[in-house]
Amino acid sequence: MTWWPGVVIVSAQEKPERSDASSYNVGLLSLSNTSSDMQYISTRGEAAAQSFSQILLGGLAPDGGLYLPADYPQVTGAELDAWRTLSYADLAYEVLKKFATDIPDADLHALAHKTYTADIYRNARHGEDASRITPLRLVEENSGAKIMLQALSNGPTLAFKDMAMQLLGNLFEYALAKQHAELNIFGATSGDTGSAAEYAMRGKKGIRVFMLSPHKKMSAFQTAQMFSLQDPNIFNIAVEGVFDDCQDMVKAVSNDLAFKEKQKIGTVNSINWARVVAQVIYYFRGYLTATTSNDQKVSFTVPSGNFGNVCAGHIARMMGLPIDKLVVATNENDVLDEFFRTGVYRTRKSAETYHTSSPSMDISKASNFERFVYDLLGRDGDRVRALFRKVETHGGFDLSGKPGSDGDEFKRVVEFGFVSGKSTHDDRIATIRDLQEKHGLMIDTHTADGVKVARENLTPGTTMIVLETALPAKFNETIREALGRDAERPAGFENIESLPQRFDVMPADVEKMKAYISARTGL
Ligand SMILES: *Cc1c(COP(=O)(O)O)cnc(C)c1O
Repeated sequence: MTWWPGVVIVSAQEKPERSDASSYNVGLLSLSNTSSDMQYISTRGEAAAQSFSQILLGGLAPDGGLYLPADYPQVTGAELDAWRTLSYADLAYEVLKKFATDIPDADLHALAHKTYTADIYRNARHGEDASRITPLRLVEENSGAKIMLQALSNGPTLAFKDMAMQLLGNLFEYALAKQHAELNIFGATSGDTGSAAEYAMRGKKGIRVFMLSPHKKMSAFQTAQMFSLQDPNIFNIAVEGVFDDCQDMVKAVSNDLAFKEKQKIGTVNSINWARVVAQVIYYFRGYLTATTSNDQKVSFTVPSGNFGNVCAGHIARMMGLPIDKLVVATNENDVLDEFFRTGVYRTRKSAETYHTSSPSMDISKASNFERFVYDLLGRDGDRVRALFRKVETHGGFDLSGKPGSDGDEFKRVVEFGFVSGKSTHDDRIATIRDLQEKHGLMIDTHTADGVKVARENLTPGTTMIVLETALPAKFNETIREALGRDAERPAGFENIESLPQRFDVMPADVEKMKAYISARTGL
């Protein structure tokens, strides 16, 4: 058995604990890192460069930063032309090959084809072709621009996190098998991320998932999605408490380094580099489907929370994909909209974070934002380190260029194509109604935030693709409020609430949790 270095645990709710960074050791995999491999460097400039496989199972870099490629791989016009006719799996292989240079091509090809199948992404609606994986549909022509929806939510949990998590499950299983190693994923969830992780890791060799959720606090649909899994490697733990109690237990366990190491505990959070890369693929697919020539530009509107999804769009654009604008859509939790309007990044305290009807965007601090700031600051790791220390001490920073600010790079944001907008509960309801009435199309609350903001950011002649991040069935309560009837459910989900459930109820007691885990891992 390979020696198992400590891993940063981050709850599935994706709040990286910067204080854990010092306990993080280099990559879990001691695979070789040769100079011909793509090198990954930290946004804070102080961690050693690593290869793709070395950072695959990890989180933060040891200096507390996030990993990025030392140079973005570029795509040529000839490559884009050749990629137009590829299947999703083959396109995924071509994109992944540029980043995962230390995984043999034949293995990457097999992993891409195992992940992106019509059977896994089977929940396509309206007669769309499931084999397209992320089908694109025209919604309307508005102000001389086409608005299209790209469906990212046809996977097992009906939300876009499946796009990356399904690949991660296969990559983890592959890497662990090579090392004859195992991994126990431990996290807390209040909904989307936990279920995407469980559906990606179910039945995978060498992996167990221990997922905490607040007992009786999730929606019946979300609870059923997770608890109906009968796979012996999935452990659903309903904690007698609220979500914060679950998260506190994850933190407490993560602070016990000896336990963490002995139990081979790791995580799957949104700062994981492989998740970001997996998301880059569908920007290529969306662009290539919406255009007929590389002279055409396309904009994307992205319902955003932790900035993971739109960060992948930024990377696709840096690779040379002809993206015009990247439109960041937020809900009432408008940390990102405020930055892209003013240059001021001001994180919110939990008490100032609203519980909204697009709950997967209820964030107070965007964990992937540092990756963009690194590029915005011309890849100056020292300044990024200083700014994100200021986030910890002063709750934010200011790049507006005004007297006393931390810099004037806000003026460079346009070069990166970023603009933003915000949507409220009333906007969401109005947009869901409008699309149903005008186009007979039912969309979820997060996608509605995207459509609302997209309509405000159109350029005549440039197609706007809105990323559909969930299916309406997941947020039925708000659909009922908007439309007075239930959301449509994909086949197989009709009676999900009545399926037998497998879970354990536990008190919010750290020692009991540790005993529960070690009894099941046998470690
Ligand atoms: C996670 C999630 C988002 C936010 O994505 P980020 O990568 O955190 O910006 C938006 N919509 C849905 C449905 C999600 O599950």
